[in-house]
Amino acid sequence: MTLGEGGTPLVRAENLPAKIGRPDIELYFKLEGLNPTGSFKDRGMTLAMSKAKEEGAEAVICASTGNTSASAAAFATKAGLPCYVILPSGKVAAGKLAQAIFYGAKVVQIDGNFDQALDLVRALAAEGNITIVNSINPYRLEGQKTAALEVIEKLGNAPDYLFIPVGNAGNISAYWRGFKLGKSIGTAKKTPRMFGFEAEGSAAIVRGVVIENPETIATAIRIGNPASWKEAEAARDESQGKIGCVTDEEILSAYKLVARTEGIFCEPSSAASLAGLIKYSREIEKGAKVVAVLTGNGLKDPNTPIEVCKDELDLKPVEPSVKTLKAVMGLCK
Ligand SMILES: *Cc1c(COP(=O)(O)O)cnc(C)c1O
Repeated sequence: MTLGEGGTPLVRAENLPAKIGRPDIELYFKLEGLNPTGSFKDRGMTLAMSKAKEEGAEAVICASTGNTSASAAAFATKAGLPCYVILPSGKVAAGKLAQAIFYGAKVVQIDGNFDQALDLVRALAAEGNITIVNSINPYRLEGQKTAALEVIEKLGNAPDYLFIPVGNAGNISAYWRGFKLGKSIGTAKKTPRMFGFEAEGSAAIVRGVVIENPETIATAIRIGNPASWKEAEAARDESQGKIGCVTDEEILSAYKLVARTEGIFCEPSSAASLAGLIKYSREIEKGAKVVAVLTGNGLKDPNTPIEVCKDELDLKPVEPSVKTLKAVMGLCK
């Protein structure tokens, strides 16, 4: 089944490289926010849901920081399967919650975080004919690896670097599978160095310990015990890459910068890739081809821009006259 997922644009950054002091790199953004439900989760969900249907599941269930639930709810509806969603209360962006409910999923919020929600989902699924569609479902990563193959197709080869946010670490693992596949079937002559970024307040892989109470403004990567931890470390090591972390301040600054230099509105979590690129830009050699994955659409979270641009948002109505407008807009010379 399909809702038209995949085939997302790879857009060249024309202004941003100079802004970050690296006009010599060739930078592209993979715009995963243009998938049908607004995030890359759709790539894996189409396959996981098709397989659940094929195997005769009675329902699907997921824990989610938001985007998995939006995607699961949409594809479950398409498949004619009931969908149950367990969310950490108060930590899901408004647009994502709206999507899950509006596509008709049964949404339950818990007084707990994502990692606890996932434990509960595992327990519930073990008791009935319910398929888990989190990224621990093996079909999810198989679907998600298509993004790497698309990058290769567009560039005619793999890039030198891939920058990507890391939450449960499924996506970095999926891209690495895709790049290795591309090289093995000969569509690419190389594989990129994989640079993944956790949020500092939930940097389990970087610190090497489970974080009991992960915190970050980047709610889609607010995860203290990544499900694909080992595979992500293998991707890092095999590709001579890095898994680092970025602060909320660095994330928000990258989030604003990509909107204001490139006209691209991603969600805060997505900007962890760019924040990491800015932080480690000195490590990139001259002329390198670099792809940064922007994992989700900015419209999912209308509250953060308002928060970030508080000072600019003086939207009190003014008198409707040319004279007043000229004064307010600073057009009077
Ligand atoms: C799910 C998600 C991530 C994290 O991906 P993982 O596979 O969990 O590492 C990052 N950004 C957005 C927008 C997401 O929805």
